[in-house]
Amino acid sequence: MIKKENKMTAISRKTPAENVIALVKCNKCGKCCSLDSCYIFEDELKRIADFLGITEEKLKKKCLVESEKFNTKAFKVKTVSFSKPFGPCMFFNKRKKECSIHSVKPTHCRIGNPCMNHGEAVSIWFTLNYFVNEKDPESIRQWNLYLKSHPTIQGGELKDLIPDAKKLQKILSYEILTIQDLEKYDEYYSKISKSKIQSKIQKK
Ligand code: SF4
Ligand code: SF4
Repeated sequence: MIKKENKMTAISRKTPAENVIALVKCNKCGKCCSLDSCYIFEDELKRIADFLGITEEKLKKKCLVESEKFNTKAFKVKTVSFSKPFGPCMFFNKRKKECSIHSVKPTHCRIGNPCMNHGEAVSIWFTLNYFVNEKDPESIRQWNLYLKSHPTIQGGELKDLIPDAKKLQKILSYEILTIQDLEKYDEYYSKISKSKIQSKIQKK
């Protein structure tokens, strides 16, 4: 029990990626790649497409499916078991038990796999840093639902993501519904706080 708590507290939401990578230990058994694939983000497409010598469009069409988590869009690499929800990643070389795009593999494969040392905490870190979006009320609402039945790491509670309790309540009650609503809310309160500072300065 104590061991598990240590693993969950070794990483917080703000732990830099390089520190998370340093904690991660993988024995390269290949099980994760033979059971499921990984997420890829839009800004990772070019380097993978270049490595494969194809266009980004062809990479999307032939190798990826559109995906979404906590209202954030990403792609997932196709698996080779098309009839089943899980199966080997199409980039997994089964014979050599290695990733065929290893040198350009996605961040998710370098950091976010839940099997490794500190696995659960690492997986939550990845979700918080790559999928949960404080600027998107729907993402926050979905994270709120997730937290009702899952643990999180330090910095991953709702109050850490949205410290303004009034704003959080408005997001959860759908009063702040969209990204645009949230931008308007922030703009309004930043103007108020600016005018309060200006009036304090004038009184001095
Ligand atoms: S992340 Fe885990 S399952 Fe995947 S290769 Fe490494 S040790 Fe094996
Ligand atoms: S891209 Fe490579 S490392 Fe990532 S899941 Fe596929 S085979 Fe594994």
